[in-house]
Amino acid sequence: MARMKCLCGMELSNHDAPNDVELVVYTDKEWERICDCESIEPWNIPLPRYNVWQCPRCKRIYVYNRENENPVMIYRLED
Ligand SMILES: [Zn+2]
Repeated sequence: MARMKCLCGMELSNHDAPNDVELVVYTDKEWERICDCESIEPWNIPLPRYNVWQCPRCKRIYVYNRENENPVMIYRLED
């Protein structure tokens, strides 16, 4: 469970499970490797490489890796 403050000022939290803040993101190749078996058991799906959060207000995307406390990438809408 974690929380952070978006640059727009909104408090973000993953307290609720499920929630609308965390995005589960895999590349197509990663997903292909995961699906390359007879059957997929949900508990066997590996954690994504990045922990991705989206602010519901301003739609900024924060990308974290497992080693750093601060986001390694931040994206925001141009318009
Ligand atoms: Zn925001």
